[in-house]
Amino acid sequence: MSLIVCKFGGTSVGSTEKIKNVAKRILKYRDQGHQVVVVLSAMSGQTDKLLGMAADIQEIPDLREMDMLLSTGEQVTISLFSMAVKAAGSDAVSLLGDQVCIQTDAMHTRARIKKIDTELIKQHLSAGKVVTIAGFQGVTQDGDITTLGRGGSDTTAVALAAALKADSCEIFTDVEGVYTTDPNICTKARKINMITYDEMLELASLGAKVLEIRSVGLAKRYRVPLHVRSTFTENEGTWVVEEDKIMESMLVSGITYNKNEARITINKVPDQPGIASKIFLPISDAGILVDMIIQNTREGHMTDMTFTVMRNDYARTMELLKKVAADIGAESVTGDESIVKISIVGVGMRNHSGIASTMFQIMSNEGINLMMISTSEIKVSCIIEEKYTELAVRALHSAFALDKDNVPKKEE
Ligand code: ASP
Ligand code: MG
Repeated sequence: MSLIVCKFGGTSVGSTEKIKNVAKRILKYRDQGHQVVVVLSAMSGQTDKLLGMAADIQEIPDLREMDMLLSTGEQVTISLFSMAVKAAGSDAVSLLGDQVCIQTDAMHTRARIKKIDTELIKQHLSAGKVVTIAGFQGVTQDGDITTLGRGGSDTTAVALAAALKADSCEIFTDVEGVYTTDPNICTKARKINMITYDEMLELASLGAKVLEIRSVGLAKRYRVPLHVRSTFTENEGTWVVEEDKIMESMLVSGITYNKNEARITINKVPDQPGIASKIFLPISDAGILVDMIIQNTREGHMTDMTFTVMRNDYARTMELLKKVAADIGAESVTGDESIVKISIVGVGMRNHSGIASTMFQIMSNEGINLMMISTSEIKVSCIIEEKYTELAVRALHSAFALDKDNVPKKEE
């Protein structure tokens, strides 16, 4: 008998009809002899609705009260789900984060889980119940309700799977799994059958939204096998596992794009010690995250500094930098919001040279100019003009043999 933690997202429990279907599905698992812990999100749209109501009342929300409010969404779905299991003739119990004792720090609206008490869950499981736990919430040592940040139910599920030493954690969602790229812009995108934690971490941080990134980090740390799959079909989804579980790794597993960044250049900065810190300190003090940074040396002890920030920080960063530029005697600050970051990700890159240059070649064949490049062990990212997003993604997808109809065939 195995123990499985199953998490269902908001669209999977978006109506009472859908909740009944999820209950049926879980009871099938039970009939196959598994013990099941179910983690649920709020109904789709509910958390946004609650945030909207809070915004109507308080411009800058009180974070403790915000958590009190946001945690109600999940209370609705777990109680209805337990009723659905009971209506189907089985036994179930729903539990809130504080009843389980999912203890977190006191960082309201973005709390981190510190420890989980598994005693009560185990008791209910041995009594033969389906145990349903509210995702996204916890409790501080002082008994205050907290939430884990948007999408936090994935983290609840993985943390519970780790604490209970579950055999796997299944994340049920409204897509079939993790795709080689966004199927909305590349019709040849394929579902990936197996992927490593590291690849998934890169894909999630680069904008693939199917899993919340913290949950992937946690799954990696505790070696929890993750299975991302659809609520609405029986098909196998994508397994996220340790690298040695994957027999054959692809050179490139996925291609992502992120339109959320903007590029800023400080032109002709005097090339002296301390300049980078004078530029980036005020930016980090303002809580602005910087992604890629490039420094180029010019003649005459001058340098250009180019970097990217989130697009919604663009205006603020430009404002800030104009002052900094004047202070340090730089010539000008220029920027560009219509860029996109295109990345290729794959653990196969570790043992192969030439992946980056292949990428550059493909972009050049398409006449696409690369404005910035950055690489890591398992990733190459390029900043290009936003209007080339589709073209670049499709060209890379087929060049790295990811297209649906181009899966390498066995030799005959
Ligand atoms: N309900 C929360 C949200 O919408 C948590 C989750 O769904 O994972 O962000
Ligand atoms: Mg989610």
